[in-house]
Amino acid sequence: MVNLPAQESATFDTDYAILPMRFIEDLYKILLSFNAQFVTPDELSFLITDEIQSPETIGNIYKREYASWQKKAPRNKFTILLLHDCDYSPHNTIHFLEYEKSLSIRSTTAVYVTEFNKNEEKPFPIDYSRLALFQQYGFCFSYHWNCATSKNFDPSHFWTFFDSDIDFLNSKGLEINYYSSHGAITREGQKNNHEFFPPAQARHKLLSTHNRYAFMGLKYSDGAFEAKPEQSDIRNFLFKLAYGERHIILLHPCRYGAQNEDCAKKLFPTHPYIEEYWKLYRGGDTSPYWKEVLKALSLKKISQHIQ
Ligand SMILES: [Zn+2]
Repeated sequence: MVNLPAQESATFDTDYAILPMRFIEDLYKILLSFNAQFVTPDELSFLITDEIQSPETIGNIYKREYASWQKKAPRNKFTILLLHDCDYSPHNTIHFLEYEKSLSIRSTTAVYVTEFNKNEEKPFPIDYSRLALFQQYGFCFSYHWNCATSKNFDPSHFWTFFDSDIDFLNSKGLEINYYSSHGAITREGQKNNHEFFPPAQARHKLLSTHNRYAFMGLKYSDGAFEAKPEQSDIRNFLFKLAYGERHIILLHPCRYGAQNEDCAKKLFPTHPYIEEYWKLYRGGDTSPYWKEVLKALSLKKISQHIQ
């Protein structure tokens, strides 16, 4: 078993949290009640060739896999590829994994080796041996590529940074076959992480899960709450869920686990749906928040003749 001690369970990283954990509980329960099946990239058939080494040809690998998946896609299920980026939230990441495990949901989490936050550079404080235990339960882990935010980064040898981090994760018992680029805005004059393309030169030929080079499917991301308010209201995505289709949902654990509205308040004027959720949460019943989504999904379920 990999359950957390009770004391540790009570700890959340709240610097970036704008919604309570209940929001995630509501979401997962809805997905499960409408026949969602959760998959990890390890269950997909990526045929990796030399195409992985070039930004111009890597897209063929994704296209081929998606075409072969579509031929055998279960028509009576929503297939969900659930992705997380660990961004500065080791505790919340563990909370997500524990909760998902309790529901038999499997996800793919991109983890840092070093975090570069607010001009501080330090080893990412997560218990990797615990992640290795989750791996035994079918969870998948990937590497969160954040070279461009490091002070000691040498752009001319970016792949050595990549390789040494993957070596570190492997030494902790984690099998790493995928990575995602951290999408943070980097220092002025610098490139974004995704512009350093590791498969071109690194020893470890990993496939990117998302951010510029991405798995195919209908996508939702909570990564741009501020910039794209409409798109970040997950209900707008849930209306589009399609039986027989694959959906890629990227959730950042740092956004959840809020103990109060402090961080969320500044978003209320531009993001009324966040305020709406908090109001209902305070009142003790969040079900009205999802009412229209449940109605729409119920109709889809009936039309698929699913009990
Ligand atoms: Zn990130």
